[in-house]
Amino acid sequence: MYHANRSRHEVVIVGGRVAGSATALLLARLGHDVVVVDRASFPSDTLSTHSIARSGVVQLNRWGLLDAVLDSGVPAIRQITFHADGESVTRQVKHRAGVDLVVAPRRNVLDTILVSAAELAGATVRTGVTVSGVQRDDRGRVVGVHGHDRGGAGVEIGARFVIGADGLRSRVARAVGASLTELRHANGATQYAYYAGIPWPGIEFYPAERALAGIFPTHDGQACIWICTPTADAKAVRRRSGTRVEAFDTLLSVSAPGLAARLRDARRTSPVLGVLRQPNQLRQAYGPGWALVGDAGYHRDAVTGYGISDAFRDAELLAVALDRALTGHPGIGAAAEAFAMAQYQRERDHALRGIFEITCQLAAYPAMPAFIELQKRLSVEIDCAAAALADRPVPGERLLAAT
Ligand SMILES: Cc1cc2nc3c(=O)[nH]c(=O)nc-3n(C[C@H](O)[C@H](O)[C@H](O)COP(=O)(O)OP(=O)(O)OC[C@H]3O[C@@H](n4cnc5c(N)ncnc54)[C@H](O)[C@@H]3O)c2cc1C
Repeated sequence: MYHANRSRHEVVIVGGRVAGSATALLLARLGHDVVVVDRASFPSDTLSTHSIARSGVVQLNRWGLLDAVLDSGVPAIRQITFHADGESVTRQVKHRAGVDLVVAPRRNVLDTILVSAAELAGATVRTGVTVSGVQRDDRGRVVGVHGHDRGGAGVEIGARFVIGADGLRSRVARAVGASLTELRHANGATQYAYYAGIPWPGIEFYPAERALAGIFPTHDGQACIWICTPTADAKAVRRRSGTRVEAFDTLLSVSAPGLAARLRDARRTSPVLGVLRQPNQLRQAYGPGWALVGDAGYHRDAVTGYGISDAFRDAELLAVALDRALTGHPGIGAAAEAFAMAQYQRERDHALRGIFEITCQLAAYPAMPAFIELQKRLSVEIDCAAAALADRPVPGERLLAAT
């Protein structure tokens, strides 16, 4: 028998990882009644490497979560090395925008820290709930979601806003009919595995013709070793190889022989994981009663390792916009909402532009001199983005300080 488990909140967020939990955390700190639902439970992993660029680390720091991330045992990374044309250049991470380190926490750790922080701030978190669609009122406005829990019991959650933070293949985006506003090539593949047993002094990059490989040191003395290539190249090597591991080893030995040689003394501790044909795309960010955040609204190739930082930035832009819409500031009712949500889309689209363009160009794998030049531009863009975030008021900081 169908048994609906019904509840009502100001905001329901579908998806509880970097975009969803960060949005919930900030909304709860701003005093709103928010529920996060995810079909997964936490801690759990997701398909992603996890180096957080300076701008993402700035967000963790501003939100008071960087200490918890470092306390999880992830190394504070203070040096970055580029190996190109037979030379290695190492630079220290400068003290800028309030941080002097970067981190690469495993997603089962990072996402759990965010979910717990959202809960501590007052958000309700419901795991094991799969959302299958949205509810609408008779004017067509989205007014909630429906789905089911692990036992198959129906779940209905009513809300003034439904937020899709449910990743690239967003069910919410589909249900509300969010249109793609920009679609570029989907050329890139990323593959990775974890290794232990040798020292990892910092982040390292190995750019090569039609490839970028690297090292992200993470928990328990392990490192994530990854390689980005055009999808066609990854598939061609896979066809010639007996296994995924063999294909990964071949790609590394061809594109980053120095790294492949170092790995001979290390021990692989995971299977090889990866994705092909990563889209570069933007979706409409909002509509009546709904909004998208994180990969659900904007997806880019992993070659720039920037999705977590994008999610953190957009979570904050969205939380501020929703706060204005929910409190009717400035203006009243529908006018306040339209103003606030249009501003969210405008700010998101403006803030993502520089790194999106660089990502699309890197994912087309131009010849090495152009590729290296793009990497330099990326580093400047990230520092600018970090500085801009550090200048913003922290949502909920005043309320947090008063408690
Ligand atoms: C191979 C790879 C490497 C990457 N490397 C990096 C990197 O080094 N650095 C970086 O910054 N970014 C990296 N990224 C990008 C980064 O992983 C994403 O940008 C980020 O995970 C997006 O977070 P999100 O919260 O928007 O979505 P997701 O992490 O996809 O989370 C979506 C959540 O929604 C839930 N969900 C989905 N559908 C439903 C439903 N119907 N009902 C209930 N719950 C649902 C899922 O269970 C999931 O928990 C990489 C991505 C890939 C694929």
